[in-house]
Amino acid sequence: MIKLHDKVFKPFLTEEQILEAIEKMALEIAKDYQDTVPIFIGVLNGAFMFVSDFLKAYPHPCEVSFVRLSSYQGLTSTGIVETLLDVPENVEGRDVIILEDVIDTGRTLKQLVHLFSGTNVRQFKIASLFYKSEIYNGEYSIDYVGLEIPDSFIVGYGLDYKELGRNLRQVYQLNQDNMINLVLFGKPGAGKGTQAGLLKEKYNLKHISTGDVFRYNMKNDTELGKLAKSYIDRGDLVPDEVTINMLKAEVEKNPEAAGFIFDGFPRTEAQAEALDNFLESKGMQVDATIALEAEDDILIARLLERGKESGRSDDQDESKIRNRFDEYNEKTAPLKAYYQKQGKFHSVNGIGEIIEITERLNAVIEQL
Ligand code: AMP
Repeated sequence: MIKLHDKVFKPFLTEEQILEAIEKMALEIAKDYQDTVPIFIGVLNGAFMFVSDFLKAYPHPCEVSFVRLSSYQGLTSTGIVETLLDVPENVEGRDVIILEDVIDTGRTLKQLVHLFSGTNVRQFKIASLFYKSEIYNGEYSIDYVGLEIPDSFIVGYGLDYKELGRNLRQVYQLNQDNMINLVLFGKPGAGKGTQAGLLKEKYNLKHISTGDVFRYNMKNDTELGKLAKSYIDRGDLVPDEVTINMLKAEVEKNPEAAGFIFDGFPRTEAQAEALDNFLESKGMQVDATIALEAEDDILIARLLERGKESGRSDDQDESKIRNRFDEYNEKTAPLKAYYQKQGKFHSVNGIGEIIEITERLNAVIEQL
């Protein structure tokens, strides 16, 4: 185990495994390019070590150059890719092979393809040492791959966590063995958001409120916001497919999280199944589902009060609130049985002082 900044990483790939994969790639590419002199273009900073070992393993004449892009800040891909060092000038009419250290969602790759689309290269290919096929959602097919790896955060062999770890000879993976993932369950107004805000501090968890993400998108008038608005205004649930995809994207944005609090998700059996499958694919799981219980009259009074302060239209109209309760009773309540079957359901009295309720939740979490 090693520690970089605040995170612990465990060994994942040895130097031998990496070099063996690189040698295989170099010979495979050499076979396709024996009659020309290709230009290998490394993508800085992460690929510098890969480029070096790749070139040493490449048996024919070749040239090398670099571009530099940035998209990662810390552990989270920001979604914005900047070009810091542009395409070299001598690529016209040449066979260009990009050498990437890792391809995950494909955002950087898209920018690379775009960068080269304006040049008259003879042929353009992509070779990536590591490839997270599970989360790649680009259109461009990857021509040469060293190793397919699962979607966990890695450092070493040129790759960094906040600039540290690039000098390591092997690759390490973020240690998530102590991860806790909680589902906060309960009707609208049960106090999920309030309690999640307190628990996330205590246990250093990432709080994902699907309601908040929808409201953020509505406020910014995004496509997702426009889509969700009519459902939310009526107090209906947003369709599963939309909500599930959004939730996955929120989890993907936080590969560094020590765990998640899911607040307002899942709300249907299809969402619960999707969450289980998604977490499993990442070596994670729901550890506990904790329900905050309170009677409808109390909840309605709380929501109307909240509606006055927040201006949320779905909190201001009793008929919309009743419709949200109906949605809950029909679609969400059955999840109690779903999680009971897995032995993960815990129920907590949601009435009392905020701090008392937090203590009841802590008591459940401490037992896990
Ligand atoms: P909340 O803030 O959790 O009360 O959510 C507000 C509204 O967002 C809900 O009434 C739904 O219309 C929508 N919403 C939030 N989470 C979900 C979900 N998991 N599935 C479907 N719709 C949701």
